[in-house]
Amino acid sequence: EAKRQRDGKPRLFRQAQEDELEERLSLERELRLAIDHDELCLYLQPQVDEAGNIIGAEALVRWQHPERGMISPGHFIPIAEETGLILPLGHWVIQEGCRVLGEWRNIPALQGLQLSLNVSVRQFQQPDFADQVLSVIQQHDVPPERLTLELTESLLLSDPDGTIEKMQQLQRAGVSFALDDFGTGYSSLAYLKVLPLDTLKIDIAFVRDLALGMQATPIAATIIALAQSLGLRVVAEGVETNDQRLVLAQLGCHIYQGFLFGRPLPVDAFLRTIVEDARASLPHK
Ligand code: C2E
Ligand code: MG
Ligand code: MG
Ligand code: MG
Repeated sequence: EAKRQRDGKPRLFRQAQEDELEERLSLERELRLAIDHDELCLYLQPQVDEAGNIIGAEALVRWQHPERGMISPGHFIPIAEETGLILPLGHWVIQEGCRVLGEWRNIPALQGLQLSLNVSVRQFQQPDFADQVLSVIQQHDVPPERLTLELTESLLLSDPDGTIEKMQQLQRAGVSFALDDFGTGYSSLAYLKVLPLDTLKIDIAFVRDLALGMQATPIAATIIALAQSLGLRVVAEGVETNDQRLVLAQLGCHIYQGFLFGRPLPVDAFLRTIVEDARASLPHK
């Protein structure tokens, strides 16, 4: 019979729990140092229009751990959020994103390209969040029109008035907003109307089962119709197949992001693909 500890759980199970806790604690300790040790970096994933032109990019943070290798944000963002480390981490993302946008200003092939940065709820809820962003924008001489901040619906749960106020302050300065993972969280349609939003991003979950000849998932269709009726742009996340792209186009979604168009790449590699694209489309002499 299985040996049980006093807490009634099988020993192996308890051991696994302990290992997991220890793993978490060491990740937390190391994450504290990661920013100062320059171990974070941004990857960029293209957003394209129907003609396949790259019109923007989303910045996705990666942790280049000295021993564990590349760690994806799905692993460390939740830890960062629970420990408050999301504040320095999130600020680093804004700094680095704006530094990149500042460098892009003088590259002709990148004119008009939007950069989207993900912002956590806790990060956005800092009373001086808008001032922080505006000061970083100024520091790097970034045209605010080129910056989009991706927020999630959970923001509206706690402090809708404060949220709207901060968004308005940034919007007046020229910054745009996208609602990320739309359809997966709490959302009050009443708020959608009053938020100064530019874009809804359809979550990958609703893109995944789109296929030609099948009845389109009613959720994707509904989100696209909703965006249209509110006058918002709509971006489909996680587009992997041409069938998905075609169905989305039929439904009226004209901006796509996903492996079909490009995986997230380090900033330099992303830049090279764009500059090469631009060169390839020059008239041949
Ligand atoms: P998200 O903002 O919804 O980002 C989209 C995620 O979908 C990214 O995962 C991206 O690599 C992935 N993706 C894009 N196209 C495809 C596709 O065709 N197929 C599949 N299977 N996946 C695709 P990633 O980079 O692992 O990021 C996961 C999440 O971590 C992000 O979801 C976002 O919530 C969070 N995150 C990433 N960077 C940051 C950041 O700088 N700050 C904050 N607060 N959160 C971040
Ligand atoms: Mg996002
Ligand atoms: Mg998303
Ligand atoms: Mg997502």
